[in-house]
Amino acid sequence: LTYTKTHYLRSAATLSQCPGEITREVAFAGRSNAGKSSALNRLTGQKKLARTSKTPGRTQLINYFQLGELPLALVDLPGYGYAKVPIGVKNAWQKELGNYLQKRDALAGLVLLMDIRHPLTDYDKRMLEWANDNGMPLHLVLTKSDKLKRGAAKSALLQVSQAIRNSSTAVSVQMFSSLNGDGLDELKQRLNSWFLP
Ligand code: GDP
Repeated sequence: LTYTKTHYLRSAATLSQCPGEITREVAFAGRSNAGKSSALNRLTGQKKLARTSKTPGRTQLINYFQLGELPLALVDLPGYGYAKVPIGVKNAWQKELGNYLQKRDALAGLVLLMDIRHPLTDYDKRMLEWANDNGMPLHLVLTKSDKLKRGAAKSALLQVSQAIRNSSTAVSVQMFSSLNGDGLDELKQRLNSWFLP
């Protein structure tokens, strides 16, 4: 699959607003600053693709990026943690997000991005638990691998691998760097396997 023809399709605030023309999608989640936008931009070779999701007004809940004219999409979920929205909005989001994750039939897998220097925060663990409970395939991406020396990066990868080894759902993990492209092919292969089962 080619990811360079990806373009912004639309944003959805609720499950019912999710596009019907998309039959398979992969959602990207992660706490703010994990490197989600940079990873989406690197993956699609488009410097400003994921910026839309940080533009006030356009930011709703779920941002859809379609792969060319295919019925496939990458979905950018709001970065949890530091989203600059009122608490009431945050709670409403949480509810809609849960609804989306649980009920969206097109959702084929979830990519969870974590800074390789701070993996498995409480929220990451909750997402992991949720994926396990719901049998949702999960791919963990340890971002900013360029920030660590090779040995330290490898041991972070090993540590996360250990933490997920008892998962009941399909979980995989890799390193990634938006800066130097480390792990880009591996990420594409995982997405391909979900889009073209
Ligand atoms: P988001 O909030 O998850 O979308 O995170 P961003 O993609 O905006 O990245 C947060 C910060 O981390 C920015 O300052 C990026 O430049 C930086 N960053 C993201 N990915 C990488 C990476 O692979 N390597 C390095 N060195 N910095 C990165």
